[in-house]
Amino acid sequence: MSALTDLPPLRQSLEAHGLMADKGLGQHFLLDLNITRKIARLAGPLDGLTVIEVGPGPGGLTRALLEAGAHVTVIEKDERFLPLLNELSEVSEGQLRIIMGDALKADEAALATNQPVPIVANLPYNVGTALLIKWLTGAYRPASMTLMFQKEVAERIVARPGDDAYGRLAVIAQATAKARIVMEAPARAFTPPPKVDSAVVRLDPHDMRPPEPLLAALERITQAAFGQRRKMLRSSLKVLGGGELCEAAGIDPSRRAETLALEEFLALAGKLLERP
Ligand code: SAM
Repeated sequence: MSALTDLPPLRQSLEAHGLMADKGLGQHFLLDLNITRKIARLAGPLDGLTVIEVGPGPGGLTRALLEAGAHVTVIEKDERFLPLLNELSEVSEGQLRIIMGDALKADEAALATNQPVPIVANLPYNVGTALLIKWLTGAYRPASMTLMFQKEVAERIVARPGDDAYGRLAVIAQATAKARIVMEAPARAFTPPPKVDSAVVRLDPHDMRPPEPLLAALERITQAAFGQRRKMLRSSLKVLGGGELCEAAGIDPSRRAETLALEEFLALAGKLLERP
C-alpha cells in the first residue's frame, strides 16, 4: 500500500499537529516503525482480519497493523489525535475505523465482526490491567491479545508458582488464556521514555473458559489467599472455609498461596461453590 508508506514520519506528524504526550493518559509513543511492525507480526498473521487497537495515539502501531493487511478499529480517548488518525484513515482505503471514547466502557462485540477478533495495543499504563481483566473475564472474548505492558505487569501475568510475581493476575490470566512474553521493549523505545521497561504479552484464550460462577469463586479465593500471601491457607482463607475448604479440595491447609498451582486454585474455587 504505497499511500501508507508515503506518510511523513510519526515524529514529524506529531510536530505538525503540535501534539505533546499527556502523562495523565499514560501516553508514551512508539514512533519507530521497526518496533511497531514487530508487534504486528507477533499478533499475526493479520491479513484480511479485523483487529481492535486500543489507544492508537498518533497511530504508529496502527500504521503497522494496516500495512499487515488488517482492517483496524481503533478506540482512542484523547480527541487531540483525531486529525492525525483521520489522515491515516484517508490513505488506508477504508481499512481504518475510528471510535473516540473510553475503551473501559466500549462494547467490543458491537465494534467487531461476528467472529472474535484479535486485540492489539500499546496500553495506557493506568488502565492496562483493568482492560486485560475485562477481556479475560468479561462478556466479549477476543480471538487473541497482543499487549504492551510495563515489564513488571507482564511478569505478573506469566508468573508461575514460587515466583515473586505470582499472584491473582497470573491465576486469572492463566485460568482463561495461554500467556507468554513475546518481546521486551526498553524504556528508550518510547517517546517520551517511561521510568520503566516494557514487554509485550501474547494471550491466547483457552477454548473452554471456566464458567462464570467458577471464575467469580476463583477471584474470591485468590483475593483472600494473596491478600495475606505469607499466611497459611487455613488462616488466609478463614472467612471462606479455611482448613475445611482446603481439605475438601485435597490441599494441605498449612501451605501458602504462592505455592499453589492453577489447578489447585481451581479445585478450591470448585469446593467454595459447593458450600452452602
Ligand atoms: N498506541 C500508541 C503508540 O504505541 O504510540 C500510543 C500508546 S500510549 C502508551 C496509550 C494511548 O492510550 C494514548 O493514546 C492514550 O490517549 C490512550 N488511552 C488512555 N486511556 C484510554 C482509554 N481509557 N481508552 C482509550 N484510549 C485510552
